Amino acid sequence: MIDTAPLHFTSEISAAHIATAVRFESRLRPRYFSLAHSGEPWFRLLRGSVPVLLTAPHATAAMRHGHWHGPDDGTGWLAYMLHRLAGASVLHTTRGSPSDPNYYDDNAFKAAVKHELAVRAPKIVLDVHGCHWSHPFDIDLGTMHGRSLLGQSEMLHRLRSALRAEGLSRLSDNRFPAARNATVTKWVADHGTPCVQLEVQSTWLHPQRDRNRAHRSARLLQGLSRYIKSFEP
Ligand SMILES: [Zn+2]
Repeated sequence: MIDTAPLHFTSEISAAHIATAVRFESRLRPRYFSLAHSGEPWFRLLRGSVPVLLTAPHATAAMRHGHWHGPDDGTGWLAYMLHRLAGASVLHTTRGSPSDPNYYDDNAFKAAVKHELAVRAPKIVLDVHGCHWSHPFDIDLGTMHGRSLLGQSEMLHRLRSALRAEGLSRLSDNRFPAARNATVTKWVADHGTPCVQLEVQSTWLHPQRDRNRAHRSARLLQGLSRYIKSFEP
């Protein structure tokens, strides 16, 4: 397959965007492990203009079998910024989750995903996660070994091209297939919408640490932003 690299590089991401991302995460961080009081929400929906839904179910920590499963820190700002910059609709957790949305189906987060699929009919759902820096890839793309694309594999090809154009070249396939457990990807595909689970290796998700990582975050943001905007009506 021929990859079409852009001849002219244009940048849409500024230092101010990265500063906003860092600020967003610093406000979310104190709530990673704090459960909402009963009746209070533990996630939020940001509706955008582009028919792409981004989910960040591990933007905060989540309960599994009565224990905390640590947050995929950095996925909260990523989802929020892709709403602001690209117009994606976003569902992300805002407090510690009483029921891990990527492990159980019977919770309000999954119900909200289902509602969005029915009411807004996104063309694709991107379920965003973060994983340990020791993984030798930039991003792993989980598609239940292709099944969650529901035959629309061209959407995955375009996603790969958009990421490669920003230097995220080590793209792995189905190291985390999202096929076990009651994942968001499985839930979305079962409800008739294509879905890809993105496991972003953590050195791309921590712009607050140093300039190199801030730079990586800018590239990640631009790659995903351009991909999402390609769905603009
Ligand atoms: Zn995760």
